[in-house]
Formats: sequence, C-alpha cells, structure tokens
Amino acid sequence: MKAVAVYPADEKFAVIDHPEPALTDPKDVKLRMLDIGICGTDKEIVSFEYGTPPKGSPYLIIGHESLGQVVEIGPQVTRLRVGDLAVPTVRRPCEVPSCIACRADRQDFCYSGEFTERGINQRHGYMTEFVVEQERYLNPVPPSVRDVAVLVEPLTIAEKGIAQLKQIQQRLPWREQGSRALVLGGGPVGLLGAMKLVLEGCDTTVYSRTPAASNLEKLVSSFGAKFVHAETASVADLAGQVGNIDVVYEAVGASSLAFEVMPYLGTNGVFIFTGVPGRKGPVTIDADTIMRDAVLKNQVIFGTVNASTESFADAISDIGSSLGKWPDALRSLITRRWPLEQAAEPLAGKSGGIKNVIAVAS
Ligand SMILES: [Zn+2]
Ligand SMILES: [Zn+2]
Repeated sequence: MKAVAVYPADEKFAVIDHPEPALTDPKDVKLRMLDIGICGTDKEIVSFEYGTPPKGSPYLIIGHESLGQVVEIGPQVTRLRVGDLAVPTVRRPCEVPSCIACRADRQDFCYSGEFTERGINQRHGYMTEFVVEQERYLNPVPPSVRDVAVLVEPLTIAEKGIAQLKQIQQRLPWREQGSRALVLGGGPVGLLGAMKLVLEGCDTTVYSRTPAASNLEKLVSSFGAKFVHAETASVADLAGQVGNIDVVYEAVGASSLAFEVMPYLGTNGVFIFTGVPGRKGPVTIDADTIMRDAVLKNQVIFGTVNASTESFADAISDIGSSLGKWPDALRSLITRRWPLEQAAEPLAGKSGGIKNVIAVAS
C-alpha cells in the first residue's frame, strides 16, 4: 500500500510502498484511512528537524491528525463495527513501571519522556491507506461530522487546555460564567481554540499577525468572536480593547509575541501555552513585571500537550456542536484536499490556507 514517509538519516522524503498491516491481537481494529491533516509538526518532520522512525526502520510514515473507517475488527472488539468512523489518538504510553501517568492511561502527562507517538516519534503514522490500532486508542465518530472530523485531533489541544482552565477557575467560585479570552494566532489551533472558547460562553478576541488576514476577520466574526490584526493594533492597543484578560490562549508558537502579551494578562488570569517554538535564540522579556503580576494578580501560566481519550470525546462532541452552529465557518478551516501522491506540495508549506488535508479515500 502507498504511504508518505520520511528517511531522516538520508534527508529524503517519498511516497513509498509499505506492507499492508494485518490484525495481530483480538482487540485490534483495521482502518481504511480517509483524511489526514497536515500541521506544523509534519512540516518540521519533512524538513528533518523532528521525527524518529520506529526501531529498525529507516523511515517513518508521517501523519497524526486523521480520520479512518473500520474495515475489520478482532473478535474482542466491542465498541466499533465494520463501517464505523473513528479518529485515533496519537500518543502511546511509555513502558516505565514507575510512570504513574502512563500506568493510569494518561500518557499525555508521561513522566519518563519515553512515550511514543504515531507519525512523530518511533511509531508509523496515518498518512497511508490502511492502519491497524488497538480499539482503546480509537474514538468513534458519528457520520454526521464525516467531512470535518479530521479537525478533531487539533481541537483536542483546546479541549484539554480549557478543561484545565475550568479546574483553575474553580478557585473563583463567585465568577459569573464566561471569561474574556484572547487567542494569539489565526491558524487552525488558534481558530479551533477560539471556537471552543465561544462555545464555552467566553467573550473571545483573536489576534493575528498573518499577512492578508482579511478573510480571517470575516471567518472569526462568523462564529461570534472578534478579530484584531497586528497590522492595525499593537499589543498595548489590543489589551486596551479587551479589558481585564481572563484567559490568553497562545497558538502561535512564537515566544516573542507570547511574552509581549503576558504583561497584559489580567487579575486572576490564566495564560495557556500550546505552541512549540523552534530554538531561535534569546528574546527580551519584561521579567520583573511578569513575575510581579504572577504574584500580585494570582496568575496561572501553564503549558499543555494533547491529549487524553476524554479530550478526544469532548472534541468529537464539540465538532458536532460547531458544525450545527457555524457549518460554513468550520468547513472553511479545511482549505483543500489533496491526493496522497501530491502530499509533497502541501507539506512544503507553500500551498497556504488554513488546514490542508490528504484525502486517501472518500
Ligand atoms: Zn498536528
Ligand atoms: Zn510514561
């Protein structure tokens, strides 16, 4: 079967022929892959900055944001049937007995760092025709969200982040519902985060530095958030417009902008990091203000990596709600579907748009 693979040692990238996987365990499920989303991580892997093949393999099949359809099930599979749609999770637990997070099925909080990830770290990914996976790593998806279900995996970032935000805000029991939220970044992670914040009743503003962001303004307004472009408003102007910022949801992966905004985080505010910046050398930050405010304004600053089965279930439910409320906005996050043979083009990052998807089958 065809697969999109990277050979890190040779700095080579190709559409290859890979043996079709078969069920080996009674709890295994075989999926025919339908859609595989491309994100920044994939672009880093194909430029050889990131990504590790499975032990003994010279190549890594990429792809971690996906949707598949069940074509075969083992005799002990109970939750999925042939024909069902499913989105697989990405991270798999380490084998270190003392890692209490992995032993509790929360490998997203792995202590040992020896976790693996499909399509990224020591396990083949989903940008191929067929995949076999254990039932417990598969999340059933209703057919009504078929055309946008590839967005479930990137939405889990927001689901896990906002679940933790709610835990933190429990310390403010007198708060009325709905925070003032600022989203940094107009890419898929930022836009899905903004949609989730609007669903949660937050007064949400998206701040973007993306050039020619005029379409973004229309898109963001269409699902009930405000849009501010960096060309027309400095971070200080932005903060003045928003008021007391209860939540910053960072989705730019640029430390300079994140730390420029941090001094404007409000009283009892929460700053959520989701981006993974490349190491580009030191940036200047106003460390005294940041530390002083963290104390005097009871601020919480945390980072979050996706995601548990619970976050996938939340994302599948919220994709359904978003599709009901804002079908055009949600669908417009998917810019274009590409055949697997042409994967090199969107992976090179030159095709533009919001979310490019490899459509292996329909
Ligand atoms: Zn991704
Ligand atoms: Zn672990």
